[in-house]
Amino acid sequence: MDNVDVSEILVSEKEIKAMVEHTASLINKDFGDEELIVVGILTGSYVFTADLVRHLTMPVIVDFMQVSSYQGQTSTGVLTIKKDLSFDITGKNVLIVEDIIDTGYTLKCLKEMLLKRNPKSLKICTAFDKPTRRTNTIEADYAGIVIPDKFIVGYGLDYDGEYRNLKDVCVVSMVGGN
Ligand code: 5GP
Ligand code: MG
Repeated sequence: MDNVDVSEILVSEKEIKAMVEHTASLINKDFGDEELIVVGILTGSYVFTADLVRHLTMPVIVDFMQVSSYQGQTSTGVLTIKKDLSFDITGKNVLIVEDIIDTGYTLKCLKEMLLKRNPKSLKICTAFDKPTRRTNTIEADYAGIVIPDKFIVGYGLDYDGEYRNLKDVCVVSMVGGN
């Protein structure tokens, strides 16, 4: 059986803190005093969402959504809503907050879905970005830290439900096993 090693720190707690503050300052500059509905995508983005909103200076409504994506062999994929928003976003400024963009599939589907609800604006913010893995044309308006093609955990991100509580972002590697 494989064992998981998460001892390699890729992004430190200190670097994450600086990223959160910088990202929030860009959002504050763009929105001024306009109300913003912040939509955290569960589960991975709960830590980033909690940190980010505490640096935002406009009136903020925090909401969460949980989706699961399945991309089959065909180009048409399916996005299932496991938990929908509690607020109506029609005519509102909306900011989707993600933990990480990988292939971009989840966000592409989510963006299309939320645009149908006619928000005033819809922007995307991600803590981490793996642009080299992108197979869908989608970019974040606010992309915190670009990371290489490695599987990371910590700061809300999990491996099989574990490690979300790590303060640093660490690389998962498999050790041993038979
Ligand atoms: P995408 O649809 O962009 O391929 O997938 C995005 C989702 O895949 C993220 O929201 C996250 O849940 C998961 N994911 C992608 N890369 C990683 C990673 O390195 N670590 C973890 N823990 N999850 C990842
Ligand atoms: Mg996710």
